[in-house]
Amino acid sequence: MCAVAASEVALDPSVKQFIDTPRKMLIGGQWVASESGETFDVYNPSNDQVIAQAQSSGKSDVDKAVKAARKAFDDGPWTKMAPAERQRIVWKIGDLIMEHQEELAQLESLDNGKPISIARAADIPLAAEMFRYMAGWATKLNGELISPTVPYAPGAEWHAYTRREAVGVCGQIIPWNFPLLMAAWKLAPALATGNTIVMKLAEETPLSGLKLAEIMQEAGVPDGAVNVITGFGEEAGAPLAAHPQVDKIAFTGSTEVGRLIVDAAKGNLKKVSLELGGKSPNIILEDADLDKAIPGAANAIFFNHGQCCAAGARLFVHERIYDQVVEGMADFARNIKLGPGLDPETQMGPLVSRTQLERVTGFLDSGKSQGAKAAVGGERGEGDGYFVKPTVLTDVSDDMKVVQEEIFGPVVTATKFSDFDEELVKRANDTVFGLASGVWTQDIGKAHKLANQLRAGTVWVNCYNIFDAALPFGGFKQSGWGREMGEQVLSNYLETKTVTVSL
Ligand code: NAP
Ligand code: MG
Repeated sequence: MCAVAASEVALDPSVKQFIDTPRKMLIGGQWVASESGETFDVYNPSNDQVIAQAQSSGKSDVDKAVKAARKAFDDGPWTKMAPAERQRIVWKIGDLIMEHQEELAQLESLDNGKPISIARAADIPLAAEMFRYMAGWATKLNGELISPTVPYAPGAEWHAYTRREAVGVCGQIIPWNFPLLMAAWKLAPALATGNTIVMKLAEETPLSGLKLAEIMQEAGVPDGAVNVITGFGEEAGAPLAAHPQVDKIAFTGSTEVGRLIVDAAKGNLKKVSLELGGKSPNIILEDADLDKAIPGAANAIFFNHGQCCAAGARLFVHERIYDQVVEGMADFARNIKLGPGLDPETQMGPLVSRTQLERVTGFLDSGKSQGAKAAVGGERGEGDGYFVKPTVLTDVSDDMKVVQEEIFGPVVTATKFSDFDEELVKRANDTVFGLASGVWTQDIGKAHKLANQLRAGTVWVNCYNIFDAALPFGGFKQSGWGREMGEQVLSNYLETKTVTVSL
């Protein structure tokens, strides 16, 4: 069904088999079709060809999955298992991801369009590491012993402590930009803390998540503890977010849909965590080491074709080095090899979908119509795939749409500043978002000063896009609620119970 060109890696036979059979969904430990019998096409964005079929779930499928998760939460065995046993299973998911790493990398590259070299080096091992890191927390979810501050009655004594308990049934809705890794970011902490889950994969990229569901079964996750469904946002995501038996909803995606999730969660006031969009500033000071800052700023925007919520999309460069930086980044962009994801030589693949292609080229048109100039790129790439050339836009002003809105493509806007002052900080913070930011300088004082002043959940100094399972990640302002990863993510998935005992 799926033809690959001569320059592309030959698909593993197990991958061929995986995509040649219509994919089912994992509900209550069974692989099932949607109740309506409807499926949808899964595309290879590198060539606009259909590669697989997935189930199009609706309200009744979501209801079935939530009931399975509810039963698994209320009756166990997952929620009643010894923490050490849960730890062992969550760790094993990581090990099995690495055992299946080539299959997963090929599925990811086929489905999302990302270079196979990146899927192999980053997406797959980072997903495995997320399960292993979170596995360790399963055995360390301790409360605190707290001394009350007033006696209430003469001579009264109290013994008080907190327990940390799983929040319950978690709905999780993920996007398409790092399909396996986003699944890992959400599943690993929810599992380690003893919750049960219904995850809806992104319609654009369901394949690696479905493979992961098989892996979780193989690792020993009991029936119903994780349910993985496919389908569209309005038909499957919305009923999951609104479901009265879901205790918590975790969402990653656009700020626009984040707002819909908040509305949908109102009914039963389920807990909500959101990881939303960004328009992150990346600031290059006059004293920066440009041999590092130029490729660093290029990778900040061009990594994953700019389809990163943390992408360094608004570049601020000191006026004395501005031309050198723009030329350096344009050179860098010209040397990026665009091509199909499965070609091992490819450094940048296509955007994920025709919709994203139209969205990003629409932004390019909007920028040009308002006077922006492309120092490099600025147009579609060749071929049937959804390619956009890496682009550096100059002659932009801070109020333009291309500077204010999230493009989610390989497009950076480059502007100048003249002084290291409050005005620079104000411009960098002039966005509704607050996800990430970058600073390039050799002056440690200036670096820390900016790190304090930038209103963003992450500040990278002389580096960018450094993610680690131990480092919390999430947004200020309209970039979200709560944090992913690190110890902090556990609070998304745990309730605190206070126990007070009269002695
Ligand atoms: P999106 O619509 O926010 O999709 C993210 C997830 O939410 C997908 O699983 C989607 O389902 C689901 N969804 C959509 N509408 C929903 C609803 N009413 N209720 C519940 N779930 C719903 O993002 P997109 O359309 O794929 O991309 C649009 C823009 O969002 C991008 O250009 C980018 O700016 C931003 N984005 C941000 C991130 C991030 O990491 N922060 C990731 C992806 C996109 P479907 O499967 O039907 O899409
Ligand atoms: Mg969508």
